[in-house]
Amino acid sequence: MALIVQKYGGTSVKDLDRIRAVADRIAASHRAGDQVVVVVSARGGVTNRLIADAKALHPEPDDRELDVLLSIGEQETIALATIALHALGVPAVSRTGGQAGIFTDSVHTKARITEIRGGDVREQLEAGKVVIVAGFQGVDGHGFTTTLGRGGSDLSAIALAAALKADLCQIYTDVDGVYTADPRIVPDAKKIPEIIYEEMLELASLGSKVMQSRAVEFANKYNVPFEVRSSFNNNPGTIVKAETSTLEDVLVRGVACDKNQTKVVVSDIPDQPGAAAKVFRSLAEAKVNVDMIVQNVGRQGIANLTFTVPADDAYRADRAVNECLAKLGAGSVSRTDRIAKVSIVGVGMQSHSGVASLMFSTLAEHGINIQMISTSEIKISVAISLDQADDAVRVLHSAFELNK
Ligand code: ASP
Ligand code: MG
Repeated sequence: MALIVQKYGGTSVKDLDRIRAVADRIAASHRAGDQVVVVVSARGGVTNRLIADAKALHPEPDDRELDVLLSIGEQETIALATIALHALGVPAVSRTGGQAGIFTDSVHTKARITEIRGGDVREQLEAGKVVIVAGFQGVDGHGFTTTLGRGGSDLSAIALAAALKADLCQIYTDVDGVYTADPRIVPDAKKIPEIIYEEMLELASLGSKVMQSRAVEFANKYNVPFEVRSSFNNNPGTIVKAETSTLEDVLVRGVACDKNQTKVVVSDIPDQPGAAAKVFRSLAEAKVNVDMIVQNVGRQGIANLTFTVPADDAYRADRAVNECLAKLGAGSVSRTDRIAKVSIVGVGMQSHSGVASLMFSTLAEHGINIQMISTSEIKISVAISLDQADDAVRVLHSAFELNK
């Protein structure tokens, strides 16, 4: 008898037919004799709708109230999925994040899990029941509901799998696994059978959007192997773990594209020690995740700073920088929303040369202008115009022969 954690995302539980299909799948695992903990997301579109409602009332809704609001999306799904299992004669109970003992800090809308006590999940499993847990939510020390950041149900599932020492963790979604590029952009993209956490992290955080990146970070830290697979078919998915057998020969594993970036340009700040520090400290205090950074060093004692932030943080970033500039008594801010970040990812590039030059020359040959560049040991990213993003992904995918 195995303990399995299965996570179903928003598209997998979008409507009642999908919830019935998911219930069938859960029932099959339960009948096979396994103990099954299921983590579900809100039904597709629900979280976005709730956020839009809040924003229609206030441009920057209070984070604590947002959490109270957003957590209802997952609560709807746990009850419906449990009821669907009952209809199949499968014993099941639902638990909110708090009832499943998922404790977090108090940073509303971006809370971090501090501890998973599990509530009565183990007892319910021992009693033969499927336990359906609301993803994305937890409780803080005051007993207030928190949420774990967009896409946070993935984190709930990985963290529960770690806490319960599950034998298997399956992330069910609407794609068959992790591809060498988004198949909607590159029709001959290939499914990757096995990938390591670091590569998955880059592909996930760079907008392949298969999974929340914090969930992959958590899996890496606590070594929780998992499988990403589709709830719409029975195809094998992608196994994500610490090592793969095919590491040696793969130079670039995939091409990722993030279209949800905003470029912020801070102009005319004093070119002296501490200016950049002040700008980035104010961004950190506003809890903005800054990504690529470029500084153009100044003429006449003046410098420009350019950086990218997730589009969702653009408003906060703008305000934080403006406040900072007011204190500095210099500079101005402007924002460009129509940019994309395109990256090539692979552990193999650590030990090979020529990867960057092939990337840049390929883009140049296709008339794609690079606005910013950033690198890490296993990836190279460029910021380019949003209009050219799909083209860039396609030409890079074939330049690195990922379709072979
Ligand atoms: N419902 C939340 C969201 O849309 C969490 C999730 O789906 O994982 O971000
Ligand atoms: Mg999701």
